[in-house]
Amino acid sequence: MNPYLTALSKIYLMIVKIDISNGDCMVIKDDPKSGFIVSGVTNAQTFSDVLVDNLVSQADDAETLRSFIDHKTLEERIGNKTHLFGDFQFKSSGWCRIGLVPEHTDDGSDCLLVIAFDIDEEKQTEIKKQKEIERNNVALHEALMAANHASQAKTTFLNSMSHDIRTPMNAIIGFTSLAAAHIDSRDAVEEYLKKITVSSNHLLSLINDVLDMSRIESGRTKLEETEVSLPEVLHDLRSIVLSNIQAKQLDFYIDIQDVVNESVIVDKLRLNQILLNILGNAIKFTPVGGTITMRVIENPSPRPDYAEYEFRIKDTGIGISPEYQRHIFEPFSREETSTVSGIQGSGLGMAITKNIVDMMNGAIAVSSELGKGTEFTVILDLKKTGSPVSQEVIPELQDMHALVADDDFNTCSSVSKMLSTIGMRAEWTTSGKEAVLRACYAKEEGDEFRAYIIDWLMPDMNGIEVVRRIRKVIGKDTPIIILTAYDWTAIEEEAREAGVTGFCSKPLFLSELRDVLSRPFRKVEEAPKVEVDMTEFEGCRILLAEDNPLNQELAATILSEYGFKIDIANDGMQALEQMTNHEAGYYDVLITDIQMPVMNGYNLSRNVRVLADKGKANIPILALTANAFEEDRQLAHAAQMDGHLSKPIDVQEMLSEIRRVIGTYRKTR
Ligand code: ADP
Repeated sequence: MNPYLTALSKIYLMIVKIDISNGDCMVIKDDPKSGFIVSGVTNAQTFSDVLVDNLVSQADDAETLRSFIDHKTLEERIGNKTHLFGDFQFKSSGWCRIGLVPEHTDDGSDCLLVIAFDIDEEKQTEIKKQKEIERNNVALHEALMAANHASQAKTTFLNSMSHDIRTPMNAIIGFTSLAAAHIDSRDAVEEYLKKITVSSNHLLSLINDVLDMSRIESGRTKLEETEVSLPEVLHDLRSIVLSNIQAKQLDFYIDIQDVVNESVIVDKLRLNQILLNILGNAIKFTPVGGTITMRVIENPSPRPDYAEYEFRIKDTGIGISPEYQRHIFEPFSREETSTVSGIQGSGLGMAITKNIVDMMNGAIAVSSELGKGTEFTVILDLKKTGSPVSQEVIPELQDMHALVADDDFNTCSSVSKMLSTIGMRAEWTTSGKEAVLRACYAKEEGDEFRAYIIDWLMPDMNGIEVVRRIRKVIGKDTPIIILTAYDWTAIEEEAREAGVTGFCSKPLFLSELRDVLSRPFRKVEEAPKVEVDMTEFEGCRILLAEDNPLNQELAATILSEYGFKIDIANDGMQALEQMTNHEAGYYDVLITDIQMPVMNGYNLSRNVRVLADKGKANIPILALTANAFEEDRQLAHAAQMDGHLSKPIDVQEMLSEIRRVIGTYRKTR
């Protein structure tokens, strides 16, 4: 053998010599390690078949390998003395580098040496490194993206906070100086104060949102579940949003469907927050004259003792783009249309809402179309308490005829269903005029309606007018109830004169309908009227521990207006000294700030509780503090305080707390 080949064969796994003129093969070396088993091959075609069959990935490499070995196509390249190399992975030997070396033999013919050498180990290391580099690149890229995102989120947050805080602050400062400039004009000052209050409340809710979000995100928020009445929640909700709805002249429909369990276990504050955030946005993002609909549906729950409540809030507002719908629950995100239109907001409401719904193991979904409107659906599985509202018929009303007139089809259907539940034969109409006609017709037929439920605002005829006309037809004894989502106090007198028996707020619950219709058949004991006693706190003395002079003045001024006498201590130590220096009973209540120099509120409370004189040690103690979270409440309780009031001061809440603790204290003395 040619010494050159002999030398080569020591290094390589396989050497095959191909005669370029006819494709004949001669195997010079076929190391069993290679596993190719090409020993018997005699032509290029069979040789390439054997190699290709042994490839791991036929798809990618077969063509390349065949073209390597095809003696005809290589004929031209040989002329250029080109050396070709390629790496292939074989089933038997792993990665091999196949090289083609043109050779001019002694007998003058041209041939091609196909040689293979083992590169499996280095290739595996290289692949591993490559993969690691790729992994690192991906991780680096992700870290970079996260850092960019975080930095962008921080910038956006600071920008929007700066804007959102400055806007109400600007109004507060501006109107305060305007009030000072017009101090002699009572009307102007009153107007400015109103504006200051609105901006202050907005600022407070913004601060609350930011704090709430950070607390929820850090997992520090706990649900406080208690027994809650759904009618109460929904009626409160309606009253809260009503003025905004009326200010924007929106049509507001609110109704319930199949709610038979009206009492559930839930965190009332958080449930309110969910519904208010969604309803608030619906009002905010719906232009004047639009419509907002809220429905609550009770469905069976898969869990025993639970019911599934579906809250749907729909508006005909600006809508949300499909792109933004994917981000709506991310903190600080706001759609461009809402920022451009100058509508106030922090982009936190929906994120908070989603977090609370998650904490309650519920679900929230949004469906929306730009320019058409938006619908949010919240589903909560809540534990039922108490027994379901009675489904029994009211015997006195059994089979009696009743009429529902409301332009909202959903309300008609839901109220008619309830009327059937209590045993009445219900009919409904969405037209006021038709209601009057039906009343006449029923009378002629001798099957008069024994109860009317009439919506106040119907497009074709106002509910009061409907009642006036119906009353002309029927006697004065049949109850006519006005059903409304709005505040009726302004029209109450006119309505009563027209013949209205009573009012019910939407949404009307079964328990409320039962109550109002069965009232004539029950003996009702008039609840004694509670007179407000303005002299209630006359002579009561409060020790107020507060280090901030402005807060001292504010609390002292408010409290003295209600007849309290106020002594002020600038820190906990001074308060303790004042308690020690006066006889037991001199102070009726101790109200203390928490963060104060020298001695804080918690330590003041603990020190008072261990005073030797029991009359002093048992004095009612209330915290009045800007530390407004549930754990602060618990800390106050742990420091043996009797209650916790958070700043900013809510006067009515403060008075009722003082009333409560003084009452308990006097009973035990
Ligand atoms: P904001 O304080 O901006 O209202 P939210 O988190 O409550 O913050 O809402 C985030 C954004 O979602 C809003 O800025 C608005 O772009 C969009 N959005 C929420 N509800 C509605 C709705 N009912 N109609 C139109 N857009 C809405």
